[in-house]
Amino acid sequence: MIGDGQHALFRAICDATDEFVLITHMKPDGDALGSQVGLGKCLLDRGKSVRIVNEDPSPETLRFIENPALPVEIYEPRRHDSVLASAERIVLLDNSAPDRFGSMENAILRAADRTLCIDHHPARDAPWAEQIVDEQSCATTVMIYDLVTAWGWTPDAKSAEAIYVGLVTDTGFFRFNSTNRHAHEVASELLDLGVEPGRAYREIYERNSLAFARLLGHALAGLRLDAGGAVATIRLDRGTIDRLNAEDVDTSEITTAQLALDGVSVALLFRELEDGRVKVSLRSKGTVDLHRLAGEFGGGGHRNASGIVMAGPLDDAVRRVTDRVSSLLVGSAGSP
Ligand code: 5GP
Ligand code: MN
Repeated sequence: MIGDGQHALFRAICDATDEFVLITHMKPDGDALGSQVGLGKCLLDRGKSVRIVNEDPSPETLRFIENPALPVEIYEPRRHDSVLASAERIVLLDNSAPDRFGSMENAILRAADRTLCIDHHPARDAPWAEQIVDEQSCATTVMIYDLVTAWGWTPDAKSAEAIYVGLVTDTGFFRFNSTNRHAHEVASELLDLGVEPGRAYREIYERNSLAFARLLGHALAGLRLDAGGAVATIRLDRGTIDRLNAEDVDTSEITTAQLALDGVSVALLFRELEDGRVKVSLRSKGTVDLHRLAGEFGGGGHRNASGIVMAGPLDDAVRRVTDRVSSLLVGSAGSP
């Protein structure tokens, strides 16, 4: 939970600031965008000027939570470096790691003395001026909800939906270990504010492309079990992604099917990127600390869900990460 001191810090910053720029990590997900939209609308209602600047456009399936009053601007150095350089306050949401701001990293680091970071990831040596970080929180939008309601703002139905989408996407609709009592409390209050859970689920998860279905089929057909069945590995090479027209498919959801296998405690999904690097999605339902493990390869995330972008070739990346995971499982006597 957010402490009194952090609520006071949030209030003091908001009271003293007229212009905000809201930033999040590259490839924004539901929690990232939901935090921007939720906090952004609160600040607008309080008479502040707010801009949202993102490295990447929102995924098609999440566009429904965008608010026309808060257009998402896509970062262009020529246009936005001056915005960041002169912004009174830059709020960094759902990310503490500088390198996950992508090409915005340097411009944000130059303005680090005017940043406020609100996040639920473990922060490693973050250079931000002010931080409100709660690793126990299941989603950044839950922190936003607590901060803005303590400040006396009641989200309208549209903002409540954006906050709810952050909460349910980061908890896998309340099934990950991060789901706690407070997650359900906040959800119930959001329902009172007009959120329809079924509609949110359909918007996010029942609008997959045919390319996704084909890629999922291919991925599961090639699934490999290692470490006595405890590690489920999928690899997607460029040839497959190109052939199935799956460049825009969000592959991280495929890990759900891997973890659903009995006996599997770690799911690894390797995806070859266009530039030859490899994106790894790691998920765990056991005790292996994926945040630490991903950190060894330059990535990060949470205990049970992390990501890495690492050097190829694909075969080497698969071998290095799989070997390391297997050794950790052996180290814990094989118990998941
Ligand atoms: P996904 O597999 O869905 O891309 O990522 C899972 C989680 O891992 C994300 O919510 C994020 O917290 C983290 N993550 C993903 N990719 C990276 C990365 O390249 N670097 C770091 N530090 N964290 C990542
Ligand atoms: Mn998050």
